[in-house]
Amino acid sequence: MKISKSQELFERAKQSIPGGVNSPVRAFKSVGGTPIFIQRAKGAYLYDEDGNRYIDYINSWGPMILGHAHDSVVKAIKEKVQYSTSFGAPTELEIEMAELVKSMAPNIDLIRMVSSGTEACMSAIRLARGYTGRNKIIKFEGCYHGHADSFLVKAGSGVATFNIQTVPGVTGGVASDTLTAPYNNLDAVQKLVEENKNQIAAIIIEPVAGNMGCILPQPGFLEGLRLLCTQEDIVFIFDEVMTGFRLAPGGAQQRLQVNADLVTYGKVIGAGMPVGAFGGKRAIMEHIAPLGNVYQAGTLSGNPLAMVAGYDLLTELNNHPSIYQELDEKAIYLKAGLDNVLRESGVPYVINQLGSMLSVHFSEQPVIDFATASAADNSLFSKFFHHMLSNGIYLPPSAFESWFLSNALTYDDLNETIEVARKFFS
Ligand code: PMP
Repeated sequence: MKISKSQELFERAKQSIPGGVNSPVRAFKSVGGTPIFIQRAKGAYLYDEDGNRYIDYINSWGPMILGHAHDSVVKAIKEKVQYSTSFGAPTELEIEMAELVKSMAPNIDLIRMVSSGTEACMSAIRLARGYTGRNKIIKFEGCYHGHADSFLVKAGSGVATFNIQTVPGVTGGVASDTLTAPYNNLDAVQKLVEENKNQIAAIIIEPVAGNMGCILPQPGFLEGLRLLCTQEDIVFIFDEVMTGFRLAPGGAQQRLQVNADLVTYGKVIGAGMPVGAFGGKRAIMEHIAPLGNVYQAGTLSGNPLAMVAGYDLLTELNNHPSIYQELDEKAIYLKAGLDNVLRESGVPYVINQLGSMLSVHFSEQPVIDFATASAADNSLFSKFFHHMLSNGIYLPPSAFESWFLSNALTYDDLNETIEVARKFFS
């Protein structure tokens, strides 16, 4: 596969953009090689600058649940753009968006739009602190909640991929207010809460983790956290930036039947436009300015193009719940196909999957937290990644990322993916 144009562009990009990319994992630093420069995408496929086609399992890291350049989303944006790209004043569409999210997701009385998942999580934490009058938060090792200072402690995604232990620029004070526990370890959380009685403002979690590969909550784990938060007056925050509108119309809360106090969204909610949101129980959300003094704002928050794209996509999902069934069936089919290939090969492996999130770890033991994800053979993953890429299958360039399926994938695409994987292992 010829990638000379991508190689040329990467060299040029490095002259004016740090590492040649605007977000670190895109640089392929941990898997090596040249990042592929994308020219366009439609449905399940990405096309690079050299004219190669790839079956896409990143889907912009989640938003493209119905595939790229979805016709009705494109149409909605085109119609809207002629009326200006931003007002910085309220619009009816923002109300419609808020009402739609409330009708789809549980426990959202009030919701505020922002422009990224980072902003959503950062604002939710500030709100939890303002609401409780407490400073500390608990997060989980290997979970990623964006790049706000408080979250860059034992974080997943790029922080894990590049094995960054301490992030320069994050002050010791901020870091010391972030306590961490292993995912799926309720005892460790109970101990932290006990040791920091009446000091924990919030527990924030990816209800299905996607930033150390895909890791499922073990039975009772989220329920145990829910109970603990209720007993200790701790704000329980679900970071549904990945899982929101992906695992079910009402996200992980609905799929796993666990209630959060605050929920953050990103990715699917904006259909690929820069959108995030945080929402939740009225008693907490009422502390946000201008109702309360917890300040949070944004020039481009509720941007009309971002809102119309997200609104169109959420409406599609809401009106066609069978999409979720179809996505599940495709993911289960892919998992079964990869299972066959890997079982025959004798390579130790674990495939974690829930709904349209899935990942492969080359591991002998179950992968249930960051330690077990890190213990997997991630150099084999890099080789697997490059084999797949050079055969037209675009996986996330790190074992510490979940794959995302789109419903634009056909069974032919899935079969092709399985067959390309088979070639690698045989
Ligand atoms: N939370 C989770 C669970 C995420 O996966 C991400 C991004 N991958 C974020 C927050 C941050 O979102 P953004 O990159 O839009 O700031």
